[in-house]
Amino acid sequence: MKFEDLRLIEPILRALKTEGYTIPTPIQEKAIPVLLDHKDLIGCAQTGTGKTAAFAIPILQMLKQENPLLNGHRKIKSLILTPTRELAIQIGESFTAYGKHTGLRHTVIFGGVTQHPQTESLKAGVDILIATPGRLLDLIGQNFIHLTEVKIFVLDEGDRMLDMGFIHDVKKVIALLPQKRQTLLFSATMPPEIVKLADTILTSPVMVAVTPVSSTVDIIEQSVYFVDKKDKPALLSHVLKDRSVLSALVFTRTKYGADKLVKYLKRQGILTEAIHGNKSQNARQRALRNFKERKIRLLIATDIAARGIDIDELSHVINYEIPNIPETYVHRIGRTGRAGLGGKALSFCDADEKAYLRDIYKLISKKIPAVDNHPFSNVSLRPDRIMARR
Ligand code: AMP
Repeated sequence: MKFEDLRLIEPILRALKTEGYTIPTPIQEKAIPVLLDHKDLIGCAQTGTGKTAAFAIPILQMLKQENPLLNGHRKIKSLILTPTRELAIQIGESFTAYGKHTGLRHTVIFGGVTQHPQTESLKAGVDILIATPGRLLDLIGQNFIHLTEVKIFVLDEGDRMLDMGFIHDVKKVIALLPQKRQTLLFSATMPPEIVKLADTILTSPVMVAVTPVSSTVDIIEQSVYFVDKKDKPALLSHVLKDRSVLSALVFTRTKYGADKLVKYLKRQGILTEAIHGNKSQNARQRALRNFKERKIRLLIATDIAARGIDIDELSHVINYEIPNIPETYVHRIGRTGRAGLGGKALSFCDADEKAYLRDIYKLISKKIPAVDNHPFSNVSLRPDRIMARR
């Protein structure tokens, strides 16, 4: 199935094309038609499955179709409630990307920062609001936000809301929404309290479940290499001696880091290219084509640039730098092991990145086996070694 088969309007199809999306993910394929029929939905899906687009695309389409000229003062017609600032920002970015030709406006609000820029954009009028519960209630209390016109409500990551102790705030928000609305609940797992909540907030929901990321993650062979920062380039070129690394996507945190690595590898005689925001669209397309056609084995990317690139049959993902947001790790490694195929994910961890690795262990609920038999191994960085020495 292609996006063209999902009855999507032209401005959205055009934006998806720019993102490089051609084939909907399973949750998108199942959820988009149900949502366009104005039905309630329970989506059992985790981050990394494409769930954001699964709700953002139909929301944009329904709001655009309802008021194509977007006349009148903008009122919040869709509310997306999500537990963390990072998720809120990511969802906001998705609405920016998919909605850029619709003329609809959205904003993102979350706590821990000054409220002024957020209230200014609210005053200018938005159609879609993405919010974390605490700041939302705060700004409602200050009269900056009214939810009386909300037609579509999304409760994202229901189980995490529960884990993070936000469920009471979530219930308060729900009590402020109009009774007549379309409601979407996304949750990776369905603990009893979420089932109970679903019973009270949804009307005859359609249930859509996709293989959770954790099981995708489980089929990927993951390993971590503890290494000093200065040895990372040499470790990468060592790893690449293994010819079973057929096609690897290598993640760096910064554009500068990506360029530096390309130069180093070139000096080693390893052909590669980098894709990131400073490269022209043409240069990025060319790099991607060379990679897909296996003219180069290696593509260096930053997380932003890697979004939306669709490459089948990636044999390896290499985290040259460990991401500081654990969900990003899951996104990155989910680029291999697609369609039930096995894949390998290697992570290079230096002393400064150990805390990030711990967050990842927490998110995926397991430790990643360490590889010590390489020339640049620094076993003293291994958390278990440190603990053993104490
Ligand atoms: P999510 O589960 O919503 O966090 O999405 C996971 C990642 O997949 C994000 O980086 C999206 O940009 C990307 N993505 C979502 N849908 C598609 C698609 N149909 N094709 C390619 N990439 C996608």
